[in-house]
Amino acid sequence: MSETKIVPALCTQCGGQVEVDPTQETAICPFCGTSFIVDRAITNYNIDHATIEHADNVNIDVKGAVDSVLEFAGEQMSEHRKERQEERREERARDAKVLKYFFLCFGGMCIIMIILWFIMTVFGLWGDEDAYKEESAAVCVEATSF
Ligand SMILES: [Zn+2]
Repeated sequence: MSETKIVPALCTQCGGQVEVDPTQETAICPFCGTSFIVDRAITNYNIDHATIEHADNVNIDVKGAVDSVLEFAGEQMSEHRKERQEERREERARDAKVLKYFFLCFGGMCIIMIILWFIMTVFGLWGDEDAYKEESAAVCVEATSF
């Protein structure tokens, strides 16, 4: 009674994992019922496992790619944030400028008002009403004395 060595294989038809006796030339897949060549099924299995191993490496690469993508996205985001900050700074500078102009205009108007008030006061057209009346009276006296 010889011990049959069972090895894993993949059905060449449906890809289902089956256990085969490598001493046999063909076997029947319990999943799809197709008879397949044992050697090919074993090769299939080995290729699949090689592929899986390779896929692991690929996964690492993918992870690296994802990391770099995330990094890139992060950079983009920080870039975007920087842009936003720049924009906001510009906006603030613009606002400050507007405010400055506003205060300049307001200040200028105040200064003009003060100057006007000063002129009015000096020329007696405004402010001390008694002085204005006296002056007017003086003018009247002057006028009647002619
Ligand atoms: Zn099958």
